[in-house]
Amino acid sequence: MPELPEVETIARGLAKRVTGDVIESVWLGQKKEPLKSPAAEIAAVLEHSRIAEVRRMGKHIVFDLDNVGNVQRGPSPANGRSPKRKVKQSKGTVSTLHAEAGGGARPTQTNNAQWIVHLGMTGRLQVCDPQTEIAKHTHAILKLSSGRELRFVDPRRFGRLSVASSAGFDAGGVEPLEVDVDRFVELFRGRKTPIKSALLNQKLLRGVGNIYADESLFRAGIRPRRRAASITREQSGKLYLSIQEVLKEAIALGGSSVSDYVNAEGEEGFFQLQHRIYGREGEPCLVCKAPVKRVVIAGRSSHYCPKCQK
Ligand SMILES: [Zn+2]
Repeated sequence: MPELPEVETIARGLAKRVTGDVIESVWLGQKKEPLKSPAAEIAAVLEHSRIAEVRRMGKHIVFDLDNVGNVQRGPSPANGRSPKRKVKQSKGTVSTLHAEAGGGARPTQTNNAQWIVHLGMTGRLQVCDPQTEIAKHTHAILKLSSGRELRFVDPRRFGRLSVASSAGFDAGGVEPLEVDVDRFVELFRGRKTPIKSALLNQKLLRGVGNIYADESLFRAGIRPRRRAASITREQSGKLYLSIQEVLKEAIALGGSSVSDYVNAEGEEGFFQLQHRIYGREGEPCLVCKAPVKRVVIAGRSSHYCPKCQK
């Protein structure tokens, strides 16, 4: 599952490629799971919107949209027909694009709406030419005024697409790269859960997942099972710095390519080569040579050194 550094890498890649482009029309598949907002609402918000910005919030990719109304239409298709077209889906279902044939112009408005994409486990955003073969498990196709398409593909369907109106999207929790140390320490005060669970709790800190929690705890010398409340102020300060360090290093290396993660350009990240503890069960600790241990906390594998981490 992509965590903060992978989502950051993907968002930056998309920002480079689609910022300023206008979404002309939207096709959404028949599968219900990927649509967190109703299909009609997603289509209404996206169509005729300009992508003003693409950024990461927690593990979400947020597209900030300006409504440009119905005025920036490209030339009519040569055959004079409406741009409606049939798109064949893998399971044989057929849907039509929601594009209107340039009907009555809507008033231009700045609605500051947002399109929010959560990639789940296997979600992928693809920028491609319309001729590119439509991959199996494609759930959304956005036709862009630049002539390209932005597609959402997700075989396992844990990813989610939604839209937010002017109130703005609330990703919950605080950004680990923006929070200050005092606020960070405060997050864990009085919590009886293991520190590892607290780090994974997206309502506290957003975007830190299994890999980066393990790596940060190792660098800070804290065992994943330690009660969050029992961690001293000094150790919390160390953990705060470790998280910042690990996330920044991982972003610089384009994230960790575990399972099938690739960025917006289809390239792998390289931070997995820097993992010091994650996935190293039974191997010698890089600091003291003691065999790395693995325990399961809240259903997730946690790796730690029994000597270096207290
Ligand atoms: Zn060790």
